[in-house]
Amino acid sequence: MNTPSHLILNLAVLRRPVAPVMTWPVLIGGLIPDAALFVFYAWARAQGLPEQTIWSEAYYSQPWQDIFAVGNSIPLGLLAIALGYYLKRYWLGFVGASMVLHHLADLPLHHDDAHRHFWPLSSVRFISPVSYWDADHFGRLGATLELVLVLVATAYLLPRLSSRVSQAVLGTTAVLITGGYLVLVRPLG
Ligand SMILES: [Zn+2]
Repeated sequence: MNTPSHLILNLAVLRRPVAPVMTWPVLIGGLIPDAALFVFYAWARAQGLPEQTIWSEAYYSQPWQDIFAVGNSIPLGLLAIALGYYLKRYWLGFVGASMVLHHLADLPLHHDDAHRHFWPLSSVRFISPVSYWDADHFGRLGATLELVLVLVATAYLLPRLSSRVSQAVLGTTAVLITGGYLVLVRPLG
């Protein structure tokens, strides 16, 4: 799944109806699994690599694959939940829960770019038949599923947000995601 989709979905599922609503811990936990990806992309662009090489070769190279594995670890997310509970730092528990929800949403939607979700316990990768982007692996289906989840989550969240600014940010993000879908995915056929 794309990062903005994760953030909207995680907020809809994990944000609490009463204070403390935990918006920031949910956003941070939803972002952590993809954080290394942004650093990787900035590095690859700085190296002058063409877009094609970045995603078909550099992405699969070491040490990047090892670095991605850390952020995508379900055991690490569970550890954060346990620590948050044990130390009574509930924000930390929400960071962990949001990480795990991000992993669970990625698990069925990655084909050969699947993450090592069980690091450091196992390096097994679940190769899903459905990809969220790859047209050769039901990419259109995966992307449509992602868009539907985002729209349902947005419809649920919008009336529950108290500030006009948050509503505007959420609404704009959902419109941009829908626009991206219409431009990039529909022509896949
Ligand atoms: Zn992800």
